[in-house]
Amino acid sequence: MDNRYSRQILFKPIGEKGQNNLQNKHVVIIGCGALGSPIAETLVRAGVGKLTIADRDYVETSNLQRQQLFTEQDARLGTPKVVAAKKRLEMIREDVHIIPVLDHVDGVFLEELAKDADLIMDATDNFETRLVMNDVAWKLGIPWIHGACVGSSGTVFPFIPGRSACFRCLLPVLPAVNETCDTAGIIAPAVQITAAHQSAEALKWLTGNEQTMREKLYHFDVWHNTHVEAGISRLQNKACETCGESPTYPALTQIEGTDYAVLCGRETVQIVPEPDRALTIQDGEEIAKRLGTPYTTTPFFVEFYVQGYRCVLFGNGRLLIHGLKDRKIGRKLYHQLVG
Ligand SMILES: [Zn+2]
Repeated sequence: MDNRYSRQILFKPIGEKGQNNLQNKHVVIIGCGALGSPIAETLVRAGVGKLTIADRDYVETSNLQRQQLFTEQDARLGTPKVVAAKKRLEMIREDVHIIPVLDHVDGVFLEELAKDADLIMDATDNFETRLVMNDVAWKLGIPWIHGACVGSSGTVFPFIPGRSACFRCLLPVLPAVNETCDTAGIIAPAVQITAAHQSAEALKWLTGNEQTMREKLYHFDVWHNTHVEAGISRLQNKACETCGESPTYPALTQIEGTDYAVLCGRETVQIVPEPDRALTIQDGEEIAKRLGTPYTTTPFFVEFYVQGYRCVLFGNGRLLIHGLKDRKIGRKLYHQLVG
């Protein structure tokens, strides 16, 4: 092994053996925004062989304050986050294998993405996707490392099948209102600390140091100078649908038909059509022409306005309607578009 990883190899718990392990590992990162950026960068610099990075969004100016892989040019061009990230990460280390996934990740899809993975990293911002990660992790028997941050605080916990309670077991004690950085704001240090703790847990797992992984849920507030650790093993539920005696993995059930979802804290309705009914970018251009509204096409999506709402249609048929919080109006608009 060359000099590149010498300082990491000098660190005794990793050593040559741990370093060699990293080369052969595959990590799936769900989300490539605030948490996904530093996690991906740390794992690439550490020498992890393969990363699958999934994200459904493109870079916007408001991301640049904390999403460290992206530049003003990415925001100007509206580059999808996974595309911008892959380019940047390959500049950092050219022998890394990055698989970018520009799509919404549901249960069936994540199971496929993670089938040969060693670890799943939580870099998302919503409960639904975490339940999906939780079910996939338990079904495949690999850990997922939870991280969440908002304002000046963050939470980290490694969920390990067979060792810890699962995320679904915690649902009764989780806060009902899920604040996100789009509603409560966030400062970059809270992101970096959360991501650093998650990356440390990842390195422990990937280098065979699982005995030193966290056993308590960690929560900090970097502005108010507090931190707490909470044991969660007593919350393990024998009847849990994910980690109980007869699991059914409810988050992995495929949604029938077209899916309409309000993205949390985003004032955006996302429409994921059935594959055989998906619109193409060319369809989007035709719709804009028919409606007499201007449109912009990039290699990844077409953007146009309908009744004052900004619509972004991706090449795989997924449509975002920005400025809208009502699923029903979203459905109506979509039906008008597809005719
Ligand atoms: Zn459970």
